Amino acid sequence: MRQATGRALARAAYRPLAVSRAGPIPSAALSSALPRQSAPSLQAKRTFFNIFQKKKAPVFEEGSENKIILSQDNLFHKLSESPFEALRQKGERIRTYSICPESYEKYHEQVPVKYECPNCGFPSHASEERWVEGKAEHDEYCPRIREVNEDEHDIRSGRRISEFENMPGIQPYEQAVSLASWDSLFFTRGFVSINSPRAIRHVSKLMTYPITVLSVLHQNGPFTSSNGRITHEGRRSMAAIHSTIHSPPGTTIEGATDIRPMAPVRIFILGARAESTLPADLWLQVVHLFPTAQFNIFFIGPEAGIPIVNERKRQYLKMETEGSKYGFPTCEFNVNPQLKLTSIQATYQDVHNQLGPFDPYQDIFFAFSPGLGFPDQAPENKEEGQRQLVQAETSWRKPLQQILETKCGLFFTAFSPTDLARDVAAVYGTQPPTTGPNSPSEYPSSVRLPTTATPPIEGVTDEFELILTPGTNPFGSRKWEIAEWDIRVGVKTNWGIWGIRGKRYEVTNKGEEEEVEEE
Ligand SMILES: [Zn+2]
Repeated sequence: MRQATGRALARAAYRPLAVSRAGPIPSAALSSALPRQSAPSLQAKRTFFNIFQKKKAPVFEEGSENKIILSQDNLFHKLSESPFEALRQKGERIRTYSICPESYEKYHEQVPVKYECPNCGFPSHASEERWVEGKAEHDEYCPRIREVNEDEHDIRSGRRISEFENMPGIQPYEQAVSLASWDSLFFTRGFVSINSPRAIRHVSKLMTYPITVLSVLHQNGPFTSSNGRITHEGRRSMAAIHSTIHSPPGTTIEGATDIRPMAPVRIFILGARAESTLPADLWLQVVHLFPTAQFNIFFIGPEAGIPIVNERKRQYLKMETEGSKYGFPTCEFNVNPQLKLTSIQATYQDVHNQLGPFDPYQDIFFAFSPGLGFPDQAPENKEEGQRQLVQAETSWRKPLQQILETKCGLFFTAFSPTDLARDVAAVYGTQPPTTGPNSPSEYPSSVRLPTTATPPIEGVTDEFELILTPGTNPFGSRKWEIAEWDIRVGVKTNWGIWGIRGKRYEVTNKGEEEEVEEE
């Protein structure tokens, strides 16, 4: 069998395969938004933005109906027999990268998976015999792989993707929103078309990005000091941002337009990839809950793309290169008078100064699956016999230093408990997590995950306060992403979340009391 290097594997799985198939959005976006390790300064050499540029951007046409290819009672197919090329190719990659766990663990043989489990349809073992022998272990993972199989066939089935139709608009003030979970959000916001676990899985895979942002911003979000998620320091940060985006009590929608602040709230999304090419309208779900505030969402990263809009608007939307505002390819789009989306194709550190000054009352930062504790894959950071550097020390170091200096909130997500623990350990300089002896590793051994503590990073390790404690994100994707080198490994986009802010030694609250804070 071909043995792939860790780097190739990491790419295969963590670079979004993206819009590699032409098709109606959101189904194309749905099949693309894989979790990945991204650093804001990685150079994009391949993947999604490049692919995106070569092809005509997919069209998001509301209510467009496609030819029905699969009926709802015919969604399960072995990958090799799938009617969809993309899924047949997925099976092929698994056969290439993955070795039979039963053969390896019991017989110490490295043999590819050739046999497809009849229950989940994924290549799982070397042969039917080995599948029978390993069935008890495989049955732990089989149901979720089966779920993925049917979901992937469903999203390509050609049915009308009604989950994304009739999304709710501005929330009337008298109606309380519950941001406790996907289910309560959909119920209290009146998402009428989302009515099954599968619908929630499809929608949550895309909506995890805007709704995670919303859940952090909103004062009724799931993260509070009473449930221990928002720290003492975090309360101050969140109070600052809440005071800007929530309307004063007694405001009506009619009166709201009169009291819009001059400057928009700026949400910076670092190392942006798939999230920058979501349908633009999905981001309205953030601003609909803050009718008196204005927002500018920045997607910044070498692979930042153009949001998906309808065909009429699409002709006006492109990356401006000549004389662009920030000196890098930039695309600006006013979704409505309340929301502007700006994509900047640059490493964050190169545009930081142009974006300043920053204000913790107006500005907030997010990095989805940054992989802070993930080994840097660039060859120059792989010294023979030396400790493997992690991304917090390399591509993320400068952006972290810059953002901590702004004293604005900076929130990270992670796709699994170990991914989260690894990132947290990297910036704290503590021992990284190890995978239990009986559970499969999230990466092949060739990836060289860190095994020792990262030394203190200047300007980072001793310069931040925890504002949101590391833990689960109620608005992570509900959809499993199955690793192609080992189908026993499953992760979920934005599974976990945490947040930090630069340490404040001295602070003056806007127009309120003056405080001097010690370290
Ligand atoms: Zn199975």
